[in-house]
Amino acid sequence: MLEKQFIQILPQDNVAISISDCPAGTAVTETLRTLESIPEAHKVALKAIAAGEPVIRYGVILGYALAPIAAGQWINEFMLELPQTPAISELKANPGYSVQLPHPPALTFAGYRHPKGGFAGTRNLLAIHTTVQCVTGVLNVAVERIRRELLPKYPHVDGVVPINHAYGCGVAINAPDAVIPIRALRNLKENPNFGGELMVVALGCEKLTPDKLLTPEENTPENVITLQECAGFAAMIEAILQMADQKLARLNERRRETLPLSNLCIGMQCGGSDAFSGITSNPSAGYASDLLVAAGATVMFSEVTEVRDGVHLLAQRCTDDSVVKKLAAEMAWYDNYLAGSEVDRSANPTPGNKKGGLSNIVEKAMGSIAKSGTAPIVEVLSPGERPTQRGLIFAATPASDFVCGPMQLASGITLQVFMTGRGTPYNLAASPVIKVSSRSNLKNSWSDLIDVDAGVIAGGESSIAEVGTELFHLVLDVASGRKMPYAEQYNLANDLCIFNPAPIT
Ligand code: CA
Repeated sequence: MLEKQFIQILPQDNVAISISDCPAGTAVTETLRTLESIPEAHKVALKAIAAGEPVIRYGVILGYALAPIAAGQWINEFMLELPQTPAISELKANPGYSVQLPHPPALTFAGYRHPKGGFAGTRNLLAIHTTVQCVTGVLNVAVERIRRELLPKYPHVDGVVPINHAYGCGVAINAPDAVIPIRALRNLKENPNFGGELMVVALGCEKLTPDKLLTPEENTPENVITLQECAGFAAMIEAILQMADQKLARLNERRRETLPLSNLCIGMQCGGSDAFSGITSNPSAGYASDLLVAAGATVMFSEVTEVRDGVHLLAQRCTDDSVVKKLAAEMAWYDNYLAGSEVDRSANPTPGNKKGGLSNIVEKAMGSIAKSGTAPIVEVLSPGERPTQRGLIFAATPASDFVCGPMQLASGITLQVFMTGRGTPYNLAASPVIKVSSRSNLKNSWSDLIDVDAGVIAGGESSIAEVGTELFHLVLDVASGRKMPYAEQYNLANDLCIFNPAPIT
């Protein structure tokens, strides 16, 4: 039995993590004491490890001992030989992968059924899409008036969301990688939180013509306003208000229904991570993810650069060969994308990471991957693609918080769970975002921004399963409209930064 000063992630781990600075002689277990002082969040050996033997945390090999390590000794970054990361071409599916997921305590939520079927909404929002940044100013003025003059008439609509973005013109629209922002904007329209209503504001001379976003049946005057066809500013505002009024009236007819969790699609992300993220918040999110997947829900995780060095472990959770091929293709694409700017793909841990107890890139990646739980990975999506499967899905996106968020929205998430250690007020206008802190100090100082404190795990007051279950229930409460995360209560909203790897002209 471990004392409260240390955390062991899995039974097969031969190391544990110190939750605060502790002196030599501190009890690790009933029979083991530290041989030397151990800094906060650093590793202590639970048993003797011979030279060349693996050091195991998260049930995976972080590295191999360069010299014998005694039980109770501090393990730092200089004592490990980095394991070989398998080449992308060697990634293989694992048809035998199976795992016993925890038993979910609920199987339904109250969502908005989508008229086209598929995933249901967690909010009932009017989205106003745009083809180009040039229309943003006009649209923002119109949205202010919609909120003031129209929304009060429609109490069953939660809000109006302008889909403003930096794409649409002055771009190499036919460049191969332009497929990414165009696909993202096209798929964003289908987000279940927008209820199948379609409203687009275009300028008239931009490269991203409405037909690139819409089908011929959708590209009609009932759905598209072209500002250059309006007789001046007042007419533009009037046209937008008129169309919004019609769409809002239809959205106002929608009601929540009790639905199986197979209708729910959520995203996981972390940002501003610290040494505790991989011990507290991300494993709790992983446990919640396992509960959700066991209940039939779909959970996406992303952030290519943060899984790259643990990608072989993701491959071991893919039972289907085609899923691994797609995973490898997305990793290769990102490797090339980074190499184009002569960036080192290994993205080694910073001095701050190492001071915080992260010995190497494998350990850093493990902390990030922990938020995906243990479920099999049933599908891999290119940036902004929509899923065809249900279950745990890797949706390839950059790790940047405000880019990952919009790209997951394009892939169809209707709620995001966001783990943070340093703290960020990040939020999305188009879906609620639940904030989970990795340490209690952040919750204490940001009590009105952090929804769940996973830091209590480090203090031994709660377990990963307990916080994960609390998070599962909060996801269902927020998805069902019974609760609002803090950031949603304050209407915080980041800009929609659509991933555009193609040239700007
Ligand atoms: Ca991130």
